[in-house]
Formats: sequence, structure tokens, C-alpha cells
Amino acid sequence: MFKSGFVTIIGRPNVGKSTLMNHIIGRKVAIMSNKPQTTRNRIQTILTTEEEQIIFIDTPGIHRPKHKLGEFMNKTALSTFSEVDNVLFLVEPDKYVGAGDRYIIEQLEHVTTPVTLVINKIDTITKPEILPVIDAFRKLYDFEDIIPISALKGESTDLLLGAIRKHLTEGPQFFPDGMISDQPEKQLIAELIREKTLFLLKEEVPHGIAVVIELFEQREDSDIIDVKATIICERKAHKPIILGKQGSMIKNIGIKSRQDIQGLLGSRVHLELWVKVKESWRNNDFLIRNYGYDGRQ
Ligand code: GDP
Ligand code: MG
Repeated sequence: MFKSGFVTIIGRPNVGKSTLMNHIIGRKVAIMSNKPQTTRNRIQTILTTEEEQIIFIDTPGIHRPKHKLGEFMNKTALSTFSEVDNVLFLVEPDKYVGAGDRYIIEQLEHVTTPVTLVINKIDTITKPEILPVIDAFRKLYDFEDIIPISALKGESTDLLLGAIRKHLTEGPQFFPDGMISDQPEKQLIAELIREKTLFLLKEEVPHGIAVVIELFEQREDSDIIDVKATIICERKAHKPIILGKQGSMIKNIGIKSRQDIQGLLGSRVHLELWVKVKESWRNNDFLIRNYGYDGRQ
């Protein structure tokens, strides 16, 4: 009997959702970064074995909205709860449950789908410190299971998979063998460039950047893929920072991005990067849609 099911991963930005997904699938699909909110789109990763298929949905971090994009991201995250077989709620191993986690727990109140609490990053604490964390969260919600793991070290992730398996039901294989994501390559590439840009700029430019892929084309006469991308920033003052002294920053972003894109596509890549300013695009519904963050997804 083949089993399948959908699982969504929620949790504050930076708790390790993408890391967990990547560990389970074993390849860099969702984007990891030590900056919050690099994962803006619902990325499904798919685990297929002989007996089962688990489809994971990586939601953008739920947080109290500060602007329209934040609101939209919340809606996307919340709307998935009722559609899935199991909700994984990832938290940091902290016995003081913060406002962000309490906000998420409030949102879970009317959710009938079983919620599994995943206490991540246990490699950063000692064993005796785990119990108080479990207690603190257990008081706030009736979790189906509570599983401490380290997504980074791969510790107890098999236990977690076991817990997820309980919620799979007899069902079809939705996606073919070997398919690990439903995201078009263009979107993955845009996220990779975004990740590199945020990483290299450190704190200099806040999160108001988007990346649009203008061209993605295999050359006819060789195995090179041409990619042309535009980095969009919110303020005029950010553009020279992204370009860097004599273009040194954008060059660096290009080198680092190209390495990862080549790894992703398994092919040589020629990458051309541009920078454009679009003021306060985060508060504009039209632009949110235009840049691919569409509520209908
Ligand atoms: P997301 O925003 O929830 O998707 O979080 P990410 O997966 O991007 O991870 C955020 C940061 O936490 C990264 O620097 C990860 O390396 C780190 N991280 C994730 N899981 C663990 C873990 O189990 N242990 C430790 N020590 N760090 C982790
Ligand atoms: Mg993420």
C-alpha cells in the first residue's frame, strides 16, 4: 500500500526550516541563510521512497506583519494549515517562549491538523536543558508529538520522519521519482542570487531587495546557459552599495551566484547582473504580484 501526504513547516524566521528540509532531501533546494526571511515562496520539496511520498511545504516565516508583503506572507503560511496532513512547528531550544512563538501558537488555536513541535538546534544546548523547553511549550498547546532535533547535524531527524509517517494515508504518488522540487529553475536561481546578495552585503542593505530573472536560455552552439538577472532595491542610496567600489561588490555577487547556479543546473553558466531602484515596492500590491509573490499560489 503506497502512502503519501503533505507536511508544512512553520516557525519564526531563522529557526532552521530550510536547513531541515535540505537535510531531509539531501540537496540544496530551499535557501539557507543566517538572515531571516530569505524564503519567500512556498517551496515544495519531495521525499519519495519505495513505500511513500512526503511533500514538504516551506512557508515564509510567520511574524506580526509590518507591511503588505509581511501580511501576504502570513496569509500564505496560514492558508496551508488546513490543507496538509501534518504541521511541523519549528522552535529554538529556549525555555522562555517568545512573543513570536506565542503569536504562532495563537494562530494554531483553531487548526485541526495534528501539529508536531520540533525543537531544533539541540546541538547548542546540553541534554538536561531540553526538558524545561519541552515543558514550557507543552503548557501552551496540545502538540501531537514533541521531537528535539538538530537539523544541522542530522540528529534525530529519522525520529521526526517516523513521526511524520504516522500521518500519511494511503494515496497516490503525486510527483514522479527523482523530482525534488516543483519550483521552476528560474525561481530557484533568483533565490540563490538573493541569498548571495544579502550574505555579501551583511547589514548594509536591509531586506528590501528582490531578484528578477530576465533571461534564462541554453546556447544553441554550446552547453553554456545564459542568465540575465536584475537585483531590485528599494532606495537610490542602496544601488551604489550593491554595485560596490568600481563594481567590486556586484562582481563578487556574480562570482558566488554563478558557482551555485552551475552546481544547481550541472552546466556552465554565463551570468549578467543588473541593479535597479524601485522605491517602496514592498508596500505596493501591483509590484508584489509583478515580482512573483502571488497570493493565488
Ligand atoms: P529558516 O529561516 O527557518 O529557513 O532558517 P535557516 O534554515 O535558513 O537557518 C538559519 C540559521 O540557523 C542558519 O545559519 C543555519 O545554519 C542555522 N541552523 C539551522 N539548524 C540548525 C541546528 O540544528 N543547529 C545549529 N547550531 N544551527 C542551525
Ligand atoms: Mg528558510
